[in-house]
Amino acid sequence: MHELSIAQHLVEIATEAARDAGARRVTRVGIRVGELSCVHREALEFCFDIVTKGTLLEGAELTIEEIPVEVYCPSCDRVSRLESIQRFRCARCGQATADIRRGRELELDSLEVDGGEESVGVTPDSLDDRPVQLPAESS
Ligand SMILES: [Zn+2]
Repeated sequence: MHELSIAQHLVEIATEAARDAGARRVTRVGIRVGELSCVHREALEFCFDIVTKGTLLEGAELTIEEIPVEVYCPSCDRVSRLESIQRFRCARCGQATADIRRGRELELDSLEVDGGEESVGVTPDSLDDRPVQLPAESS
């Protein structure tokens, strides 16, 4: 199950980040999910509840921000929001384009741990090989 492995990755990344931040518990995990990432929201929430059991993330809230698809049109030289993921066309002139600029995201956006908030930036690809970068600033 696709969502199950995503949820497991999220737990791994978040656990690592929380440990680095010296937190004992994660209270909220915020992720950004592009329309094209093929992630089923309810399935992910369901899996998240299961895989977080017995981890630092147990009981944490999962917030999912959905990112619409945006494509670049060379004719118009602009990025526009896709009206339907069935049709990869410029919303302005209708030209077919496969130059996707947004919508494939699958990234950890924020992490709330006990004793403050830490922002964690993870790029879509790195969700697989999970290098976690904590920004220098911390509250
Ligand atoms: Zn166009």
